[in-house]
Amino acid sequence: MQNYRNYTQDIEDESTIMTCKDADKLIPLFLDDDLDNRELSDFLDHIDSCPECKEELTIQFLVKVGMIRLEDGNTFNLSSELDSMLKEARKRLRYRRSLVFASFVLQVAVAVLAVLALVLAIVL
Ligand SMILES: [Zn+2]
Repeated sequence: MQNYRNYTQDIEDESTIMTCKDADKLIPLFLDDDLDNRELSDFLDHIDSCPECKEELTIQFLVKVGMIRLEDGNTFNLSSELDSMLKEARKRLRYRRSLVFASFVLQVAVAVLAVLALVLAIVL
């Protein structure tokens, strides 16, 4: 069961306290969807609890997406877009975690079956 720790680390993040400095560094990565599960989870938690970083995220989002939209000439409602982006990120995080969990369960199931087959081979 040496993999167990890796899996649980991914599934249950020990809630590390992210500093504003850390969060600030992750904002561009978040906007590029370039965070791993753990970073994303800590980042979203921090954004939820820290108005300053939320504001910084909003500004960087507006600059990044706003520029693209201006070029496209699309009409936009950027602040609700940011909200849905944050919601999407949470959904994705839950989905990725359930995938990690599912693969862990599968590995355990395979191990159990292997043991069972072995036991049957010996008994029969
Ligand atoms: Zn902060």
